[in-house]
Formats: sequence, C-alpha cells, structure tokens
Amino acid sequence: MLVKSFLIPDALKGYVAENWVHEPDILRRLREETSLLKSAGMQIGPDQGVLMGILTKLIGAKRCLEVGVFTGYSSLSVAMALPPDGILVALDVNEEYTGMARRYWEEAGVTDKIQLHLAPAVETLDALLADGHRGSFDFAFIDADKPNYLNYYHRVLELLRPNGLLLMDNVLWSGRIADPNHVDPETTALRELNAFVHEDDRVEACLIPIGDGVSIVRKK
Ligand code: CA
Repeated sequence: MLVKSFLIPDALKGYVAENWVHEPDILRRLREETSLLKSAGMQIGPDQGVLMGILTKLIGAKRCLEVGVFTGYSSLSVAMALPPDGILVALDVNEEYTGMARRYWEEAGVTDKIQLHLAPAVETLDALLADGHRGSFDFAFIDADKPNYLNYYHRVLELLRPNGLLLMDNVLWSGRIADPNHVDPETTALRELNAFVHEDDRVEACLIPIGDGVSIVRKK
C-alpha cells in the first residue's frame, strides 16, 4: 500500500499516492520484498520516506542517527539523500531484517555511508555519548520498541546538535494513544513520551499526520 496512514481517508489514498508519492525503483522493490514478511506492518510508508529524504537535504544533514532499522526503508531513504561524505549511524538488534537492509544499501551504493551497530540501542547510544559524540548529529529517527522510546529520546537529544532534528514514528499508535481503554505497555510508553516531549523546554515539537503519526522535534 502506497499510503499507510489511518489519518487519510480511504477515498483519498489513491489520489495522495498518485500525486504525492514519488518512490525510486529500489525503494519500491525493498518495500515489496518487505511486504511478504510477517512483520511487514513495521515498514514506514513511501510518503514518509520522501519526507525524510527532503528533511535530510533541507537541513544539510551530514551526520544522521537511526534507532530501529528493520529492513531498511527509512535508512535507505536518508542515506540516498545524504551527500557523499554523510554518515548514518544505524542501530538495531535483528540480524535477519538488517541483512535485507544491507543488500539494498549495497545495491544503492550507500553502504559506505552507513554504520550498522547490532546491539541494544541504549548501549550503543551510551557508547556514542561516552565517545564524545554529544551534540554532533544533525538528524535522527526513532522507530523501535515503544517501551524504550523515552530512553532513546533522552540520549538522542544529547547527541543532536542545537537546531538538530528528531523524528519519532508511531506517536499516535493507530489512535490508541487517545483511548484510555488501552493501557498496554506500548500505548502507555508512547503516551508518557508524548506528554514528556510536550513539556520539554529543550525542544519545539509538532505532529505530522503521516503514517501512524510522526512527531517532528527541533532541539533548541
Ligand atoms: Ca514504525
């Protein structure tokens, strides 16, 4: 499906896909291969990939960070938008899914721009902070296990430079976020995250009604 958002009425999805989604062939093939997986729902939509590429270029990002790679749609969108000397530090724990990502990075000629760390992301983020990378990243994307989002947020914010940009995926959680009947760990974690970001004086944030709700956060 070209437009995944529950925020866009079904009657409009065809129109939006036709007029607002320009998907390179390699991303289309990655999306189609991923769609055969059981966890295909974890893949971002092509409209979100376009957005991430535009933002990467727009802020002149050279150092990017991704928490949660899955099969690589977002990392490929960002890496292809980076200049030749740009880098994307990509964090995940799943060898099989990132194996698929690697094949497409290779084919797209962006492997040299991507540093994949297969380890729990909190550990890698802490290591980056300990290694002096505080304030060195231009752009970051968090799309991983929801109960850890706030742990990722705190660390990623430290790693971002002032005026750096952070996107977080699934912040509306198919609408469950606003339904008090949902008190499962994922929904609760996302609710706490959104409330925290809303009160966080270190950032400006707003919601992009794309996909499952994407928050866009500017570090002051
Ligand atoms: Ca997601």
